[in-house]
Amino acid sequence: MDPVTDALDEVHRRLRGLRDGRVADYIPQLATADPDDFGIALVSMAGHVYRAGRTDVPFTVQSVSKPFVYALALDDLGPEEVLRRVGAEPSGDPFNAISLAPDSGRPANPMINAGAIATTALVRADGPAARFRRILDHLSAFAGRPLDVDEDVYAGEAATGDRNRALAYLMRSAGSLNADPDETVDTYFRQCSVRVTVVDLAVMAATLANGGRNPVTGVQVVSEPDVVRTLAVMATCGMYDGAGAWLLDVGLPAKSGVSGGLIAASPARFGVAVHSPPLDASGNPVRGVAALRAMSERFGLHIMHGPGVRATTVTGAERFEHDGRPIGVVTAQGTLEFTEFEAVVRAVREITPATPGRVVLDLTAVTAVLPGSAAGLAAILGDLAAHGHGTAVAAQRPFVEVAEGRPRTWRLFPTRAEALAWCRAD
Ligand code: GLN
Repeated sequence: MDPVTDALDEVHRRLRGLRDGRVADYIPQLATADPDDFGIALVSMAGHVYRAGRTDVPFTVQSVSKPFVYALALDDLGPEEVLRRVGAEPSGDPFNAISLAPDSGRPANPMINAGAIATTALVRADGPAARFRRILDHLSAFAGRPLDVDEDVYAGEAATGDRNRALAYLMRSAGSLNADPDETVDTYFRQCSVRVTVVDLAVMAATLANGGRNPVTGVQVVSEPDVVRTLAVMATCGMYDGAGAWLLDVGLPAKSGVSGGLIAASPARFGVAVHSPPLDASGNPVRGVAALRAMSERFGLHIMHGPGVRATTVTGAERFEHDGRPIGVVTAQGTLEFTEFEAVVRAVREITPATPGRVVLDLTAVTAVLPGSAAGLAAILGDLAAHGHGTAVAAQRPFVEVAEGRPRTWRLFPTRAEALAWCRAD
């Protein structure tokens, strides 16, 4: 039993019956997607992967590639030059709109097609084949494994991509694209056709959340300043004409794609991805949007909600015996948000006796606990009780909330000394 997976499972269970939205059908290769495919993956800053639903289904990355290629262009050219070529203003228009500045032809932002096509052309390389190779290697470094191209989807994109070609030609005639339009769009189609799973996307998002260092492989893929700029344009422009409402409700930098992928990065906490093909009118995946809204509320993730300065959370994790009875004690301090909560859970796992004993959670120095963390701690204590352990919480306030429908399984003591005395008593 694992409370993070439980939280994902609960969101998944609640939303899998949602039948709104339509699967993209502009190419037959996408139209055949199963509307019931629905997977959620979350990768923490410690590189742990949590999953719910169908997480092994391969699909094409599509527009979710845009922020990662933008980060590569930033790395190649620096922020000023990139901004000179591609804006950073939300267009309020659909993803394939002709959002170009009237005088210069500069695309509004890198998250819509025009801006993404211009960004692809900015990636430094000796010719289109080498440019795509660099893009593929870069996306693979974000995912932590070698990715490949779905040639079928690529063929479909190339056969029907006249609107994207038109955008590229318009930009070239206006002077905002200094590359061959056909070659550039072809590279862009390949980029959109890179195959991923929802777990790959979660690792990619977690790399952004972790300041550019892939938390699974430990590789620094892009620099921290480039990540900050990338997350900023994701926050303002990542959800197309739904971007404003998204920032208001969910408050996380995010990016959606037409095959049903959606990523969000919670800086210093985790990367999360959802895959579910049916899209809303803005081209965003219906279940993905609903899932992230639920998670943002549960874990208090809105970026405007500042967690403040953090100190070490777990200040003690001990295991000892008294008269043959094994006893484990975890001591924590400060505010228990997601990251701290995860640390406490791991510490509890470490000190849990192999045979039934007593476990104490000393929260007397804890100042606040988020609702999601409180419910997660209750679940952990319930799990320990189910395995025959006696459990107690030492705290001035009843921080740990009884999770819905579950009995309270732990004793509450106002001090650590009283909790330890109970451990030693019969
Ligand atoms: N290949 C798609 C296109 O360029 C990607 C768009 C998307 O994912 N929203 O039209």
